[in-house]
Parts: sequence; C-alpha cells; structure tokens
Amino acid sequence: MTTDDCIIIGGGPAGLTAAIYLARYHLRVRLFDSGSSRAAMIPCTRNHAGYPEGVAGKDLLALMLQQAEKYGVHRQPVRVDKLARDDDGFVIETAQGGFRARAVLLATGVVNHRPAHLLPEVHDPALERGLLRYCPVCDGYEVTDKKVGVIGTGEHGAREALFLRSFTRDVTLIAPEVEHALDPACAAKLDEAGIARVNGPCGNYAIEREQLAFDTARGRMAFDSVYPALGSRIRSHLAIEAGARATDVGCLEVDDHQRTSIPGLFAAGDVVKGLDQISHAMGEAGVAATTIRNMLSEQQPLWR
Ligand SMILES: Cc1cc2nc3c(=O)[nH]c(=O)nc-3n(C[C@H](O)[C@H](O)[C@H](O)COP(=O)(O)OP(=O)(O)OC[C@H]3O[C@@H](n4cnc5c(N)ncnc54)[C@H](O)[C@@H]3O)c2cc1C
Repeated sequence: MTTDDCIIIGGGPAGLTAAIYLARYHLRVRLFDSGSSRAAMIPCTRNHAGYPEGVAGKDLLALMLQQAEKYGVHRQPVRVDKLARDDDGFVIETAQGGFRARAVLLATGVVNHRPAHLLPEVHDPALERGLLRYCPVCDGYEVTDKKVGVIGTGEHGAREALFLRSFTRDVTLIAPEVEHALDPACAAKLDEAGIARVNGPCGNYAIEREQLAFDTARGRMAFDSVYPALGSRIRSHLAIEAGARATDVGCLEVDDHQRTSIPGLFAAGDVVKGLDQISHAMGEAGVAATTIRNMLSEQQPLWR
C-alpha cells in the first residue's frame, strides 16, 4: 500500500480548498467524498464574496473541483468508513480498500435535521424557491420584511427567531411537535421582540400560492419563508472513534492551526465549531493545509 502525504475526507468547500492548497504545495493528495455537501443545497448564495449576482452552490463546487483537478487532485466518490492512527501515520478504510497517509484532514461537514413529515417532494422544491431556508446568517437578507416562520422551540428556536427579527417584524416561532418548551427569560425576550408563538404538531406541508403552508395547533398557516431550527448532526464520528476530542454536541475541537487532539489529524469547515459558512470553511482549510505542509516538511524536507 502506498502512503499519500495527505488524505482529505470530504469534498465540500473546506475539503476542496485544502485540496487546491496541498496540491499546489506539490504534495501527494487523495480526496474522498461521499457527495452530500451542504453547499450543493444552496440554490444561489448571495453573501459569498466575489459573486455580485450570487452563485449556485453546485456551480461553486464544480468550479472548485475543476481548480483542484487542474493541479492533479481527483475526487474519489467514495465514503470513508474508518480512520485509525498507527506508528506510521493513518490508515483509512473504504469500500474500495485501505489507504495510508502521513496526515489526514477531516472536512465532513454536518447534516441539518429536517422537520418531521416534510416529504422530499415538497422539501426540495420549497428549498429551491426559497420558501424553505436553513441558514439565516446566509440568507436572512432575502426575507427582509417578509412573513417568516421558524420551526423550533427552546433556546435554539428562540435564538433563531430573535436573529431573524432584525430582518422582518413578522416572525412566528412554531413548536415542531407539541407545546413550546421555553423558560420565562426566553419567553420574555420573544414577547419583547413581538415574536408570535404557536404550538405544534406541524404537518401536512404543501406549497400553496408561493408560500410554504402547514398545519399547526392553531390551524393551517402559510409563510413566505420557513426556517427549521432543529439542530444538526455533526459528521465527526470517524475522528471521535479514532480518539479525537469533541464538544458535547460532536463538533471537533481544534487549535488555531486546525489541529485536532490527535497528532497529524486536522479538521476544517462545519465539522469544527464555528460559523457554518463557506468563507469560514475555506479559511480554515487554507490554515489546515499550510500547517499540514509545514508539519510534513519538518518530518522530512520537501525539496524539489
Ligand atoms: C440551504 C443552505 C443554504 C446555505 N447558504 C449558504 C450561503 O448562502 N452562504 C454560505 O456561506 N453558506 C451557506 N450555507 C452553509 C454552507 O453550505 C456550509 O457552511 C458549507 O457547505 C460547509 O462546507 P464543508 O466543506 O465544511 O461541508 P460540506 O459542504 O457539507 O461538505 C462535506 C462533504 O463531506 C462528505 N463526507 C461526509 N462524510 C464522509 C465520509 N465518511 N467519507 C467521505 N466523504 C464524506 C460529504 O458527502 C460532503 O460532500 C448554506 C447551507 C444550507 C444547507
């Protein structure tokens, strides 16, 4: 089995940025990607700098992949099933066999929890038309002065609703399952901001007259845009199983150079605690790639 300089797990904005940097450092890089980047869900990002008219997430990923390929990195559409460290570096297991590397970058991202009972045949067109949104930091501007629903409760739901209140006066927080679970301080903040509260359960979703409509305890309601605030699953299990430290919710802990608690294992992008944004993922990946390059060069000179 040959040993690569670095294996990148994940081909979203973080993984692809690292691939471009590492290949341009003349390192031997392998990129595995199971093909479910959150960026591919973005109909058109308008807050990513450099694209005044916005850019579709899939187009941005295609351009980044094209750039990585130009320097010799090929995306292998394969899921990594296991990661382990031994005396010589890392061993990676996939359905296509085992691979070795001196360093590994984990850029596996997160998966947003979707509202229960929201079927793909409604979810996907609603997402495409901006009736359903997952990231107020990214696209709160697009709902300025619109009628907005937030599906969520507790501190997380309240925080998202309050964040959106600076874009529009018309924000309703709807509990996903039954009644709201809000402590008095949270409830007081919502009241102060004029955010309406409605109990669940939510169901029977449909696109009606260019709004996303669904049943609630108060009857059928419809919104120009709906934000689920239901948390996410952090795809950090490979690193955690290998012994890396993570927060309670599973975000990988890294230092200022994107090093995890396992020597030689780095992490960048949404899988790390931080602002879940393309620019942040790219920045972390640039830092990680350069630190990987410097670490490998200390182990063995990288003379041309
Ligand atoms: C609807 C929506 C709109 C958004 N809009 C914006 C926006 O306008 N602006 C903005 O900055 N951000 C936006 N975001 C957030 C942005 O998409 C993410 O911050 C960004 O994609 C994070 O990049 P990443 O590389 O860390 O993870 P991802 O892009 O999620 O990529 C992770 C990759 O790792 C792969 N992977 C996971 N596990 C494995 C494994 N075991 N083996 C191999 N591969 C694996 C996945 O298949 C995936 O391709 C939006 C997100 C959503 C959902």
